Amino acid sequence: MKTIALVAHDAKKKDLLDWVTKHAEKLRGNEFYATGTTGKMLSSVLGDIHCLKSGPLGGDQQLGALISEGKIDYLIFFWDPMTNQPHDVDVKALLRLSVLYDIPSACNRASADFMISSMLFGNEYTPELHDYSDYLNRNI
Ligand code: PGA
Repeated sequence: MKTIALVAHDAKKKDLLDWVTKHAEKLRGNEFYATGTTGKMLSSVLGDIHCLKSGPLGGDQQLGALISEGKIDYLIFFWDPMTNQPHDVDVKALLRLSVLYDIPSACNRASADFMISSMLFGNEYTPELHDYSDYLNRNI
């Protein structure tokens, strides 16, 4: 069982709902975290979802915190490239942490298709994380 984070901006919610519905069989049985409105929408297809706060109210930051704690395996984040978001800095922070912790991340439908059809999906995978001990032990 993997832990999958799901987020979609408003203009992309229908796209994510379509994608999740198409892949429901493969997705069910995993554990899900989602920002509030996205999670509420997807629960009709996926069942139980840990619904965090709505994105602009802190949900993206909550997901980032879960990533930093090693609790998220995959991030599927359909963000909207055509609309300014009030929580743009939170979005950027979430994407930054997903890169920092080498979390497989899909930001559009094609990438999500590649992710879910990968033979690595659902299997053991150990990311080769950068060693930050020099940074952590730096002289200050
Ligand atoms: P929402 O948040 O699922 O609560 O709409 C998504 C986002 O804007 O990050």
